[in-house]
Amino acid sequence: MSVLVYTESNNGKIRKDSLEVTNYAAAIANAMGTSVVAVIDGNTPQEALAQLGKAGAKKVLTVSDEKIGAGIARAWAITLEQIANAESCEVIIFSHNLPGRDIAPRLAARMKAGVVAGAVEIPKTDGGKFTVRKTSYSGKATAVYTMNSAKKIITVLPNSIPVKLTDSTAEISSFKPDLSSFTNRVTVKEVKKESSTTVPLPEADLVVSGGRGMKDPKNWGIIEDLAKALGAATACSRPVADMNWRPHHEHVGQTGLAIRPNLYIAIGISGAIQHLAGVNGSKTMVVINTDKEAPFFKAADYGVVGDAFEVVPRLTEAVKKFKAAQH
Ligand SMILES: Cc1cc2nc3c(=O)[nH]c(=O)nc-3n(C[C@H](O)[C@H](O)[C@H](O)COP(=O)(O)OP(=O)(O)OC[C@H]3O[C@@H](n4cnc5c(N)ncnc54)[C@H](O)[C@@H]3O)c2cc1C
Repeated sequence: MSVLVYTESNNGKIRKDSLEVTNYAAAIANAMGTSVVAVIDGNTPQEALAQLGKAGAKKVLTVSDEKIGAGIARAWAITLEQIANAESCEVIIFSHNLPGRDIAPRLAARMKAGVVAGAVEIPKTDGGKFTVRKTSYSGKATAVYTMNSAKKIITVLPNSIPVKLTDSTAEISSFKPDLSSFTNRVTVKEVKKESSTTVPLPEADLVVSGGRGMKDPKNWGIIEDLAKALGAATACSRPVADMNWRPHHEHVGQTGLAIRPNLYIAIGISGAIQHLAGVNGSKTMVVINTDKEAPFFKAADYGVVGDAFEVVPRLTEAVKKFKAAQH
């Protein structure tokens, strides 16, 4: 019996959240005395596949079929069920990202598996039972689930566990799914890549975020300068995206992306509960706001009561000086 993990690449590299779930699957496999089979789209470059071995996969199966090529979740669910049967996998791990959230429940319905979505720790495995911790109530609490089902599917929140790579290698082969019964009800007409010069937001360790307190989109230069100095991704509150000051893929919160960076710097953001829901898993939160009563200060680890237009450029200069002194 093996542990199956669904992985993805981006721009020719294995995604960080895929390395995380491969590590996660390897920890489970280790506790169960078994090994990890990683599955990935066949378009992934060969040199990237070695990363999955370093992250803990013993076997990597590449899948090439035009029906799954466009990321159709139903076709992936059929494919993964076939692989789980062929490789005797009763534990299947996904990242809690958009494809993971789309495919995992479909696969669970097909395989009659129990699912825990949004796990934040490696489960304790006790015989056939798994004890899994996950966040609940928009990150305000954690819940502990016991999985009793024979087949178990877990989706793991990105940035929940650090990535560890070793010198291990994986055997690489291809898997040809039987998708003859699959009829496509969705046609993907076009895939538009986000144009981003910085780190993708869900994978970022450091995030600099702006809210309505920035007053105008033309003021975003100071957010970008700080992000660039730190090597951080940029994010925003929902009204900022709704007013088209920033693109929607930067919007974090209850209705936006949920992120868990090591450092989240919130500038001119009030800290409404719907915003906090997406960022309160951050390891350290820093808030810059003119209003000392802003709710964000209650959640923050560090706070600066001050005008963003004075504080942020000075912070950027300090970061640049600090970095220059390190070389
Ligand atoms: C169902 C629902 C879902 C929602 N989902 C989300 C979500 O996913 N994400 C989200 O963000 N919101 C969400 N919201 C909206 C949320 O309730 C808040 O309205 C929103 O987060 C406020 O955005 P803001 O803090 O940028 O703006 P504001 O509330 O206008 O706050 C601006 C802040 O900037 C400060 N400020 C002003 N000038 C300066 C300055 N010069 N320097 C420093 N600070 C300054 C002010 O003191 C203030 O605290 C949702 C709301 C609902 C009802």
